[in-house]
Amino acid sequence: MSEKADQRLPDLSLLRRCWPEYSDPSTTHVVTVNGVDIGGPECAVIAGPCTVESLDQTMGIGKAVRAAGARLMRGGAYKPRTSPYSFQGLGARGLEILVEVRKVTGLGIVTEVMDPRLVELVASHADMLQIGSRSMQNFPLLIEAGRSSMPILLKRDWSATLEEWLCAAEYIAKEGNRNIVLCERGVRASNHWSYSRSVLDLNVLEPVRRLTPLPIIVDPSHATGDWTLVAPLSRAAIAAGAHGLLVEVVNSEADRPDLKCDAAQGVPPAVLREIMSMTRRTELTAVPAGID
Ligand code: PEP
Ligand code: MN
Repeated sequence: MSEKADQRLPDLSLLRRCWPEYSDPSTTHVVTVNGVDIGGPECAVIAGPCTVESLDQTMGIGKAVRAAGARLMRGGAYKPRTSPYSFQGLGARGLEILVEVRKVTGLGIVTEVMDPRLVELVASHADMLQIGSRSMQNFPLLIEAGRSSMPILLKRDWSATLEEWLCAAEYIAKEGNRNIVLCERGVRASNHWSYSRSVLDLNVLEPVRRLTPLPIIVDPSHATGDWTLVAPLSRAAIAAGAHGLLVEVVNSEADRPDLKCDAAQGVPPAVLREIMSMTRRTELTAVPAGID
């Protein structure tokens, strides 16, 4: 990224140039979630259902996630749905189910909060708060999340510029919370839904890394909307140097037709295992040393 592009950004405390401990561009501010480092040498995988729909479904997926070797589980209790008539999630009961899954599996829990008034409740059940794409510029929510001491997963709005995304992260940091992980989840370039929900913007990873030491992970599930594309794009994200992946999972093909949210994009457990094995092939994560 050119000097000029960097100079266009305001002086945010999260930029390397304003955060002296991280002036070396190869360093990352590691965010630890339930004992799992995001931004360390290992690619961290957060996997689980789109939505917590029942105890059986969520527990089954939790056990499969654990067996595949991931240590963090995602799952929405409060769901941002395009239509107000779609299933909105189980709410507080969903949070209780996630806690039960953590008790049995030991997985750290990542779940979305949409309402600033619910930050405290969600934080008391989860290990990391997710702020979804649609909420990226919900400033009261960002401020409330910043006042909690929780690690925050900040997804990029599908139309946000890099500057808007970093400014959103700064709202959280300004309140004293720098434990922020950025998540690229696809941008809307045009009506691509014939083959893919959005376009995964891997271009953004390197500029993010140059500008800020915050870890950045990639969500190929929401970017594609199609489980068959999730493994290839996970491979691409790892090759591009992602610090982690966010992957939606289903229990089995038999479960898929009955799911109330994002049924087409959850990978079956066998594909999650394949993705986990990609994350262990460390040569993929090596950043080229540069060209002489
Ligand atoms: C999600 O991760 O469950 C989700 C709704 O994703 P996004 O906010 O990226 O659409
Ligand atoms: Mn989803």
